[in-house]
Amino acid sequence: MNYKYLVGPITSRRLGLSLGIDPIPSKTCSFDCLYCEVTKTNNKTVERKEYVNADEILSELKHYLEKGKKKPDYITFSGSGEPTLNSKLGYIIKGIKKLTNIPVAVITNSSIIDRLDVREELLKADLIIPSLDAVTESVFKKIDLPHKSIKIENIINGLIELRKEYNKEIWLEVLVLKGYNDSIEEIKKIAEVAKKINPDKIQINSLDRAPAYSIAQKVEEDKLNELKKIFGIIAEVI
Ligand code: SF4
Repeated sequence: MNYKYLVGPITSRRLGLSLGIDPIPSKTCSFDCLYCEVTKTNNKTVERKEYVNADEILSELKHYLEKGKKKPDYITFSGSGEPTLNSKLGYIIKGIKKLTNIPVAVITNSSIIDRLDVREELLKADLIIPSLDAVTESVFKKIDLPHKSIKIENIINGLIELRKEYNKEIWLEVLVLKGYNDSIEEIKKIAEVAKKINPDKIQINSLDRAPAYSIAQKVEEDKLNELKKIFGIIAEVI
């Protein structure tokens, strides 16, 4: 069977063997990040809806698990767009929990984390990996090219609320781009905000594959290791 919504499993730097679930068609996203590894966004939206059929995702996963294929360490929502835009995210996670005890991770750009319905659905996951690339509105807009309704302040407040409501692991991801958010000044500001969010880990990252926009440039590992120190002991370079 060729799966439409399952990706992998692939060996991931952070999650070991990870079976991806892609609940959003390419390329629908609330952001159009310079560094996106998928492609440029052609449907920039904050509308939540059932972009792809939730029951079809669950039936593909059921098929995968019944076929006794390689058991992943995580089932991970990510893929071709922002997974929290799928209004059935909570329903799908609940469905996965009925099929298997493999932990569920959600990788999100945090764009609509200020919405209570989104946070409530995320509570069902075992691990949340939200992004925070900048805390200054102008830097945020340059790197992530967000939908016009999105404000960085609302994202930060949403992440702080999530921490209060969610008692499992949160790994905050900061993607650093040369000339955009790699100054000590901006990183110090992100670190201050990260303290308030209080994640379990902070993962510093840079480009790994070809970006959607060629102006996006990688920050070398040595520099990432320097910047990591600003975040303290819970930070790691991945
Ligand atoms: S949030 Fe993710 S999928 Fe959306 S543009 Fe950014 S990197 Fe790409």
